[in-house]
Amino acid sequence: FLAAALRGGGARWYKYVMIKPDGVQRGLVGDIISRFERKGFKLVALKLFQCTKEVAEEHYKDLSSKPFFPALVEYILSGPVVCMVWEGEGVVKSARKLIGATNPLEAEPGTIRGDFAVGRNVVHGSDSTENGERETALWFGKDALVAWEPALKPWLLE
Ligand code: UDP
Ligand code: MG
Repeated sequence: FLAAALRGGGARWYKYVMIKPDGVQRGLVGDIISRFERKGFKLVALKLFQCTKEVAEEHYKDLSSKPFFPALVEYILSGPVVCMVWEGEGVVKSARKLIGATNPLEAEPGTIRGDFAVGRNVVHGSDSTENGERETALWFGKDALVAWEPALKPWLLE
């Protein structure tokens, strides 16, 4: 239903990415967006947002039984986040590689977490196509995505 609405008929792939409060406070917004932009993914939604407890808990509901869940929700609420949706074939898996391992001390250099973090891990990225759609609907609603044709498309895709 929602998936079909987001796709608007043709096949589309969405990745929900969020710069967490530490990334915003540390002034990493430009650097992080730049990584996805330079890679060639297409930005279809973007906002700065002070999250509510309801949205944070819903976003991380799969982790609600974990001991770190309350601290995780508190962390996400601790300041504004930057929410975005990137579109492109293979974007979910590929963007997860750009982001790097969950524990930033284990994340490879060259990844966002590997380059920018030691504890708090600065960025979230959805881990599957289904979660990309679920999180996009949760943070933006289904009508927020902008359909546009990047001028660089013929130079990026065969
Ligand atoms: N997290 C944590 N302690 C843990 C595992 C995860 O505080 O032992 C936090 C961390 O901020 C992580 C988030 O919970 O980014 C979501 O966990 P997940 O396993 O989904 O990692 P991610 O998808 O963000 O790499
Ligand atoms: Mg996750």
